[in-house]
Amino acid sequence: MKYYVGIDLGGTNIAVGVVNEEYEIVGRGKLKTNVPRPAEEIVDDMVKATHLALENAGVTMDQIEWIGIGSPGIANKATGVLEFSGNLDFYNVPLVGMMEDRVHKKVYLENDANAAAYAEILAGSAKGCRDAIVITLGTGVGSGIIIDGKIYSGFNYAGAELGHMGIVYGGRDCTCGRKGCFEAYCSATGLINITKDHMKKNPDSKLWELAEGDIEKVNGRIPYDGMRLGDKAATEAVDEYVNYMAYGLASCINIFQPEILCIGGGISKEGETLLAPLREKIAKEDFNKDPNKRTKLVAAKLGNDAGIIGSAFLGNLA
Ligand SMILES: [Zn+2]
Repeated sequence: MKYYVGIDLGGTNIAVGVVNEEYEIVGRGKLKTNVPRPAEEIVDDMVKATHLALENAGVTMDQIEWIGIGSPGIANKATGVLEFSGNLDFYNVPLVGMMEDRVHKKVYLENDANAAAYAEILAGSAKGCRDAIVITLGTGVGSGIIIDGKIYSGFNYAGAELGHMGIVYGGRDCTCGRKGCFEAYCSATGLINITKDHMKKNPDSKLWELAEGDIEKVNGRIPYDGMRLGDKAATEAVDEYVNYMAYGLASCINIFQPEILCIGGGISKEGETLLAPLREKIAKEDFNKDPNKRTKLVAAKLGNDAGIIGSAFLGNLA
């Protein structure tokens, strides 16, 4: 059995997994990232968390083929430099070199959302597909594009940020500084903002009860719960949300025509309640008119483990 290490370097946690050749995580190690800190300290903790994971797996460093790192931000896989990460407060940090000096193993680097997308084609919902898009709806929107089995990240490694595709000219403010991005409407934050608008217009809505009278308590589940109770404002909020999402996803499909489009993140737990109306709306806007050759829309399968699993196998792509 061969073993690999995947490190999901996040703004909150350094999550490490030892992964076997069947894509199973057989040992884990986790430490707080505690941002902001000097890169030296964070890399020291990445090594510590790696040793914890190895210990839990009962595997030695000698048995590891290589180590992969999935990091937020612009990860230059050619130079091994994390050029920029707002979440980590890193500028031009040579992460690969710093790790290799410490562990004496080959180390690979990739953007975390790209690595997570790669995991879905290896072991998740898109297993076996050569062309796939994976979109994660969280506080923001993470995305990865797989073309012919490889991660597409553009010439400067800053792609593939589908969350920052404009869908409304002059629309809602986005975290990136633009207005009207897909993320501003379709992230969990987007759904919460859409729901709040409908609450303000509908003081009698059950959404207020669900939020215990406090609009700041709205989360991504409340509009769906309200819709299940038959509340009109909640149903309208969800419908508006799904319309924006279908509009954006149909554009992604029209450009790439991937075999499969996987949706992950908290809201994807709604399953068919989210996916069925999306499929219907997207079908109307799909440039391809052959229903037998339509992009499959499914929920992502690997959840939070996708970052670890995808990172662990980055060496396949080198
Ligand atoms: Zn944006």
